[in-house]
Amino acid sequence: MAASSSNKSWNNSTFTNGHEVGSRAKPSSRDSELRQGQNSTLQKKVNGFKKQAQSHHTTLDLLEGEVKAFLIDEDELHTFDDLTKVNPVTTTTVLKCLHARYSADVFYTHAGCTLVAVNPFKHVPCLYSLEVMKEYHVDPQPQDLKPHIFILAEQAYRNVQGQVEPVNQSLIVSGESGAGKTWTSRCLMKYYATVAASSSSQKCQDMIERIERRVLESNPVMEAFGNARTLRNNNSSRFGKYIQLQLNRSQQLVGASIQTYLLEKTRVTCQAASERNFHIFYQIMKGATEQERLQWKLPGEVQFCWLPNADQKLEEDSFEVTKDAMLHLGITSRMQRQIFRILAGLLHLGNIQFSAPANESQPCELDAQSKGYLQTMAALLKVPQEEVLAQLLVRTIRAGRQQQVFMKPCSQTECGMRRDCLAKVIYAKVFDWLVTFINGSICANSSRWSNFIGLLDVYGFESFVLNNLEQLCINYANEKLQQHFVAHYLKAQQEEYAAEGLEWSFVSYQDNQSCLDLIEGSPTSIFSLLNEECRLNRLFDAKQFKTRLEKALSSNACLSWDKFRESPHFIVSHYAGTVSYQIEGMMEKNKDPVPLELIQLLQKSQDSLLQDLFVEQKEQNDNRGQSKVITVVSKFKSSLESLMHILHSTTPHYTRCIKPNSDCRPMTFKKEEVITQLEACGIVETINISAAGFPIRLPYQSFMDRYGLIQNPQQLYPVSGVNGASPAKKKRGLGAVEAGEDALGSAVRDIINVATSGQAVSS
Ligand code: ATP
Ligand code: MG
Repeated sequence: MAASSSNKSWNNSTFTNGHEVGSRAKPSSRDSELRQGQNSTLQKKVNGFKKQAQSHHTTLDLLEGEVKAFLIDEDELHTFDDLTKVNPVTTTTVLKCLHARYSADVFYTHAGCTLVAVNPFKHVPCLYSLEVMKEYHVDPQPQDLKPHIFILAEQAYRNVQGQVEPVNQSLIVSGESGAGKTWTSRCLMKYYATVAASSSSQKCQDMIERIERRVLESNPVMEAFGNARTLRNNNSSRFGKYIQLQLNRSQQLVGASIQTYLLEKTRVTCQAASERNFHIFYQIMKGATEQERLQWKLPGEVQFCWLPNADQKLEEDSFEVTKDAMLHLGITSRMQRQIFRILAGLLHLGNIQFSAPANESQPCELDAQSKGYLQTMAALLKVPQEEVLAQLLVRTIRAGRQQQVFMKPCSQTECGMRRDCLAKVIYAKVFDWLVTFINGSICANSSRWSNFIGLLDVYGFESFVLNNLEQLCINYANEKLQQHFVAHYLKAQQEEYAAEGLEWSFVSYQDNQSCLDLIEGSPTSIFSLLNEECRLNRLFDAKQFKTRLEKALSSNACLSWDKFRESPHFIVSHYAGTVSYQIEGMMEKNKDPVPLELIQLLQKSQDSLLQDLFVEQKEQNDNRGQSKVITVVSKFKSSLESLMHILHSTTPHYTRCIKPNSDCRPMTFKKEEVITQLEACGIVETINISAAGFPIRLPYQSFMDRYGLIQNPQQLYPVSGVNGASPAKKKRGLGAVEAGEDALGSAVRDIINVATSGQAVSS
């Protein structure tokens, strides 16, 4: 399309996610009152002409749809499939629309280029049935069907082969805890497993089905080991996940690979009140047979400190489901027993308590009960009991140029920390081993697949009363994703208009670059300062660190100070809200130190799995010969960078999951809670930009073919016998109108003028 600044015209591009829909109406305008007046007049005109001109029904229905979108009829709100059509587009109307749809059991709504999914918190019959999947899969224009996650799924599936060259796709699912991200990812996986099977020939059907099943079976296993009950979600994912579904040239699902991010391993040893440890521990406790209990030394009467709220019954507690899924993935019963035995050992480890000695120079003591737990734990992990005790009670210090070794008894707190550290490092290694194993089982050889569809399910923005390094990392990940979103859609859209020479007032959107600079920037940022502290290996003083932050970063407007807290805190203004972070403990968490002696202890285990997990590795030294500290934030930053790199190479499709109430109840829509989420995920901005822009995109030629004749109504609506409609036009249904052609023509013009916010289309 040749566009000039004088000739205002439509954009010739089409939405990559399929919103190239001619009938989608032009949304928001600021003069809504005027618009409403026009609307009712136009509606009357359309109704009048509709009666007169049955033969024009296609055009008129289309126009009526366009007019309808400009009416604010509260009873009709639930019929709006796209939030950008609601007029005026304000937070209130958007909220009303979502509420109306939710009340009518409609849970998906487009929001311009994104899809909003409101969690029903109930089983919705037939919403995800096989028939529905098929419907979206076979329809030539699935984007015209009711909004559904399957529209995005299908668009990605069709895009992946690309018309010119294959384009990998990503479906990015975001939202707060309990909003439905994992549920949505599971639905997407099922969809692909289904449609990819339907396209395969009978010959390879069996093999494909086996792979699909394995890919799907990875979910219960990953969830058993990586999910837990929290205050906000009974099945909360405590890790981020990006799964790449690998497709061959025939669009068959031939494999998958999983990448995980930042498992919350502290949960193994520390659970907030009313929360639980990872599901797998409860599954073992509740589901183990008598014989297994004997093997894993789990007598029914023992209360485990790291197993709080074990009396709660959750559907996620099914041990059988996990074991079955593991088996399908190739984890034999023998290997399973090995894993469960180690996990049972961790439960015993958690029950070891230390009492302070009478004399500080002496090591802590263990009472008889704790000695019993120690003995069982050592037996289950197949490590020498005496050595475990020694490593828990006494630490080794290496000092001086010669790295002389000193032994120092640990304080009671230090003993507890070493015990916890041992458990966390084992659990994290088991989790990583599982992911590697699963990948080995489901990943196709690179010669067998050509493209992938990636599904990203990461933790949403978090802001608690107390926030520490975990929240900083999670919120940093969300900032990165938001930037990706902003860059991909919002910036691109605005820049496209500018390039097209359209007269269009820019909508201000929040560019979060300065927040990212604050967190991860170079040379100085929160991350770099934290890393430096770890490198210097000196005693961490939170107050001093705050002063360093102040000196180095106070020019960044996203950083401020929490004066109301006693302990040192800093505040970051994230795009989704401000969060106050506690400095105390941050350095320790970043360093996440695992004493070498503990690793060496585990290397002595007689258990083959533990031996594999802690296989001796060459220590990485810095250029001064000291062992190199790879901090949590640098690991996280680099894994996130590679994720972003992948995402940038794909066509993204965004789904924003919304939690309608924090009690996880069906049929409950709490507006205040929803609005906070809409703001936090940038939906309101997205809608504003999509709405203030041009949501209908037609190639210039198509537009002219369809509407060009409007400029001369006599041509468009020739009066039969008077002007003599051409046979071709008659055939196309542009037949006789007895009267009123001028008026109709002008109505059509009016409608289109309104629909283009007063921007007339010129040829
Ligand atoms: P987290 O960040 O804590 O992992 P999440 O966003 O992944 O949370 P889910 O575990 O997917 O949240 O969803 C929470 C619960 O909401 C589910 O266990 C399920 O009960 C319910 N749920 C979510 N989506 C749907 C849906 N589309 N239909 C019915 N129930 C749903
Ligand atoms: Mg989840």
